[in-house]
Amino acid sequence: MAGPNTTVPLLDVNRDNKPHRDEFVEALAAVVDSGRFLFGPDVKELETEIAQYSQVEHAVGCASGSDALLLALMALDIKAGDEVIVPSFTFFASVSCITRLGATPVFVDICPDTFNIDPQCVAEAITENTKAIIPVHLFGQCAQIDRICQIASEHDIPVIEDAAQAIGAAYHSRPAGSWGLAGCFSFYPTKNLGAMGDAGMLTSGDAVMADRLRLLAGHGMRPRYYHQAVGINSRIDTFQAAVLRVKLRHLGDAITSRSKIASRYMQLLGDGGLVGPDQIVLPTVDPNAFHVWNQFGIRIGGGRRDALRAYLAERGVGSEIYYPVPMHKQQCFEYLNVDGSTLPETERASAEILNLPIFPSLTEAEQQQVVDCIGGYYQAGAKAAA
Ligand SMILES: *Cc1c(COP(=O)(O)O)cnc(C)c1O
Repeated sequence: MAGPNTTVPLLDVNRDNKPHRDEFVEALAAVVDSGRFLFGPDVKELETEIAQYSQVEHAVGCASGSDALLLALMALDIKAGDEVIVPSFTFFASVSCITRLGATPVFVDICPDTFNIDPQCVAEAITENTKAIIPVHLFGQCAQIDRICQIASEHDIPVIEDAAQAIGAAYHSRPAGSWGLAGCFSFYPTKNLGAMGDAGMLTSGDAVMADRLRLLAGHGMRPRYYHQAVGINSRIDTFQAAVLRVKLRHLGDAITSRSKIASRYMQLLGDGGLVGPDQIVLPTVDPNAFHVWNQFGIRIGGGRRDALRAYLAERGVGSEIYYPVPMHKQQCFEYLNVDGSTLPETERASAEILNLPIFPSLTEAEQQQVVDCIGGYYQAGAKAAA
């Protein structure tokens, strides 16, 4: 068991990267020597590899997951007066891509078990102004994307998957990012496939869509210095592509490690008698989903989430709240005047969620320490109550 004075980080990127250091240095040195810092061969190779990995025809690199989402909506010509259905329980970028284009986000509630967008709520939110649906595959688990695509196709509405946290995930064995008209991936360092800086990618099975995305990511310029559309400048630099190609080779192993860690948490928390409606509610895995565990999110009942988090922090155990303030309650979206009572599960999730350390190189001893510390909190509470 780990000593009482050691700390457990929420995430240790250095430790995860260390075993591959030589591979990174070799790949990065090749880029230095090539002088092709943008548009180098690694960028094309990475696009091909991600397309294969996600089982789609096309992949288009861009500067970030946020840009991927923005580019997808730009390609759909989303504009003022249009509505886009999106969960409120997500990261900001799922929503800012909509409002940046002057369109209106229509927030829908989540399923309480998976934290993912509720297909029934999606169906009910559709109007004649709905121009896109953005399901988010939160924490590494796909939303019920089959049902969402079915509902969308009945109304002829495109689906843009926010797969930023879900590279390698699947639903009914079909990869995240291959279901919608486009899939949006982020390679932010904390994601399952993390770069050493910012990077992102779009996937699409539709050649026209992919071509439009590539055009818009390059200033709408084609041919050189002739602009067909007002695009943006958004690309992966060759250094990031080189790093990501190294990491992609190890992604399968990283996902296996994450799954083992998740199972062990379930086991340890259950064995510790810590699971129950007033204590901890474990994450639910949808039987149709292949979960890649970007996050291990538990619910803390009884209004004790913040106290438990403080207790863990005092003892050097990292945790995080994804997400403490749902999008409909953000100051910048106040003007939308969303009635929070229409999103009860979203509000409950933000009050109860707690994300525990999960990263491939997290040790069993560290996990034990996290669970022991949680157990210590509940024991202290029981003593105080007695
Ligand atoms: C990380 C993330 C993004 C944005 O990705 P960046 O690469 O940081 O721009 C978008 N949506 C979700 C759900 C994310 O987790």
